[in-house]
Amino acid sequence: MADAISKNAALLWDHAANKPWLLTQKPFRVAPRVYYVGNTWVGAYLIDTGDGLVLIDTTVFETTYLVLEAVRDLGFDPHDIKNILLTHCHVDHSGGVNQIKTISGAAVWQSREDTAFMTQPANLGLGDKFKITEYPVDEYFDDDKTLQWGNVSIKTVLTPGHTPGTTSFFITVPDDKGSSLVVGLHGGVGPNTMTDEYFEKFGLDKGLRQRFIEDCDKLKAVHVDIAIPSHPAHGDLMSRISDAPMDYSPLVDPTEWARFLNIRKGFAQQLA
Ligand SMILES: [Zn+2]
Repeated sequence: MADAISKNAALLWDHAANKPWLLTQKPFRVAPRVYYVGNTWVGAYLIDTGDGLVLIDTTVFETTYLVLEAVRDLGFDPHDIKNILLTHCHVDHSGGVNQIKTISGAAVWQSREDTAFMTQPANLGLGDKFKITEYPVDEYFDDDKTLQWGNVSIKTVLTPGHTPGTTSFFITVPDDKGSSLVVGLHGGVGPNTMTDEYFEKFGLDKGLRQRFIEDCDKLKAVHVDIAIPSHPAHGDLMSRISDAPMDYSPLVDPTEWARFLNIRKGFAQQLA
């Protein structure tokens, strides 16, 4: 099992670095005002707030052009991205920040706790596969201050484990019926960075794994109508979507969030 996962990961990393077009994913809507603009390996989400676009995660440098094409494919203009929010600072999520900030002038938001990853190119064991470009951070998340742009609010919750500063988002969006839906995005659930070997190699606290497990239980108490993952494979996202790209209805399932967290908690518990 572990071998199969790592072989698959190695193939995806190789494609992202050398044949990025093989990871092309047609963009689709996951919720009212929220769109998937990532590739088949790494997620990225575009939110049309009514007061500028928000982009959550950017994928690696080499695949960033696919994010920009997905934004354009949906009829939006990458120049209108006003804010970039990062789930965590591993290069597969932050590698495109510099490019997108250069194009749009967007403000970059991340957790203070992940700052170290910006100066450790070897993070996640990806070594020098992908180009690392530095970027200025404009704002750090404050979980006591809900972000509000246009008709969309985003509550951040620090959920360490996958990295010290992994941040989860609860995005409240208006639906067509005058009500609202809550979209839940856990910022990072990969068990690859929660093994004893990994913690030792990178000098990280082994308590991060237990914190992840405990937070999964806490997060389950939050009502989430639509659960979306930071990597599509982590939440079986591609198998749950409609054939019609704008039809998000198959993703509305208030039981999915807890189901997802239970599965991810189980993977981390196996490492303990
Ligand atoms: Zn990661």
